[in-house]
Amino acid sequence: MRPIDATHDPALRSWVPGADGHPDFPIQNLPFGRFRPPVGDDDAPEDPVPAVAIGNQVVDLVAAADGGLLPGPAADAVDVWMAEGMGAFLQLGREAWGALRAGVSELLRVDTEEGAEAREMGPELVRPMAEVELLLPADVGDYTDFYASIHHATNVGSMFRPDNPLLPNYKWVPIGYHGRASSLVPSGTPVHRPMGQLQQGDGPPEFGPTRQLDYELELGAVVGVGNPLGRPVPIEHADDHLFGLVLLNDWSARDIQRWEYQPLGPFLAKNFASTISPWIVTLEALAPFRGPAGTRPPGDPEPLPYLDDADDRRRGGFDVTLEVLISSRTMQERGFAPMRVSRGGFGGMYWTMGQLLTHHASNGCNLRPGDLLGSGTISGPEPESRGCLLERTWRGTEPLRLPSGETRRFLEDGDEVVFRAWCERPGHARIGFGECRGVVGVA
Ligand code: MN
Repeated sequence: MRPIDATHDPALRSWVPGADGHPDFPIQNLPFGRFRPPVGDDDAPEDPVPAVAIGNQVVDLVAAADGGLLPGPAADAVDVWMAEGMGAFLQLGREAWGALRAGVSELLRVDTEEGAEAREMGPELVRPMAEVELLLPADVGDYTDFYASIHHATNVGSMFRPDNPLLPNYKWVPIGYHGRASSLVPSGTPVHRPMGQLQQGDGPPEFGPTRQLDYELELGAVVGVGNPLGRPVPIEHADDHLFGLVLLNDWSARDIQRWEYQPLGPFLAKNFASTISPWIVTLEALAPFRGPAGTRPPGDPEPLPYLDDADDRRRGGFDVTLEVLISSRTMQERGFAPMRVSRGGFGGMYWTMGQLLTHHASNGCNLRPGDLLGSGTISGPEPESRGCLLERTWRGTEPLRLPSGETRRFLEDGDEVVFRAWCERPGHARIGFGECRGVVGVA
C-alpha cells in the first residue's frame, strides 16, 4: 500500500488559478491522462501528450521535462513514456510513478523555486482543459469486467432467479468475464443504441434495437505493472501492480443480455461501448482514502488463502462516493439541471481490487500494463444506491420520474448519463475523479 507523504499535505497551495479548493483536481490529486492540442496548433505533436490535471487545467508533462522543471527520476519516467510508450512507463512501477508525482507536485506549488520557474512558462506548460481534446487515459489491451458488489449480484439474481438469487460460487470466487477493449471510448463520446436479438415471452426472437438500454456505474482499475505468462501475482503484491482508478460506464442492453447470456455469459449486450473518465486517479493520490475490505457477514466463508492478506483486509478498500445523474433531451431543452438518480459508496464491495487482480492472474494469465479491470456495477443496500437502471427501477416496475414530467424505465435516445465520484476524509484535501459522460443514440 502507498504511504501518505508530503504530496498529500492539505496545506499545499498551487500557483495554478482555480486549483486550490477544486472539488476534483486540487494539487493533492494530480491524476494522469492524455490529450491532443487544439486543431490549428501548428506545433501540435501527433502522439497523445501525457498530462496531469490540476484545477481546470492540464499540465503538459513533456514540456515540464524538456523545460528542466522535473528532477532526474521524474524526467526519466517521462522520457520512457515518450520513447517507449505509456505501457513502458507503467511497467516502471510505483517508485517511478511516485517520483513523477512528487516532481509534478513541487513544480505546481506556489512556494517552491520550481513553481516560480514553471509559472513563467505559461501556456506552453499549462493550458485550459476545455481547449484540448482529452483522450483515453491508457492504451487498454484487455478489459475484464467483474461482479464484485454483492448487493448488485443479489438484486439482479433475485429478478432472474427469485428462489436462488446468489449462486453458490459467489462468496468463493470473484466472478468475471472478458470484455472488449476495442469499444472503450473516452468520456463525452456519443453511444449508439445497439441492435440485437430480443426475445419476448416464449416466442421466437426478433432482431432490432434494444428497448432496455442501461448504464452500469463502475470503477475501473488500470493495471500498472504486468506479470509474465505463467507467473501469478501473490495477494501481498497485488496493490503494487495497480496504477490507479477511473470511472467506468459499462453500458448494457438488458433484453439482449437476457436472451444471450446462458451458458457462456455476457457478449453483444455489453461490448458495443464502455465509457471511461479521462483521468486516472493514482493509488498514490488515493492513499489517504484506503479502508477495510468490504464486510463479510459472520458465517460467510473466509477467502481462500491465495486471496487473503492481512493488509488487504485492513486497507484493500477505497472510500469513494459515487453518483449518477441523468438529463433527458427535453430536460436539456427546457433548462432543467441533471437529476441525481443514485448515490452510494464503494466501501461495501465483496472483493477488493487487489483480490480481483490476484484472482485474474492466479491461473498464470498475464496482465499487461494498461489493462482495465472493471469492478462490476457498484450498488449498496439502499434503493438510492443502486448503480444501474435495472436495479434502480426494479426491472422497469418502479419507473423514475424526471423533473420534466417524463418517466424512465430504461434509457431513451438523447438521454445523457453522467457519473461523478470523489473522496473526502477529515484532515485531507477532497479529491475527485471528474466526470464520465455519454449521450445515448445521437446521430
Ligand atoms: Mn459491468
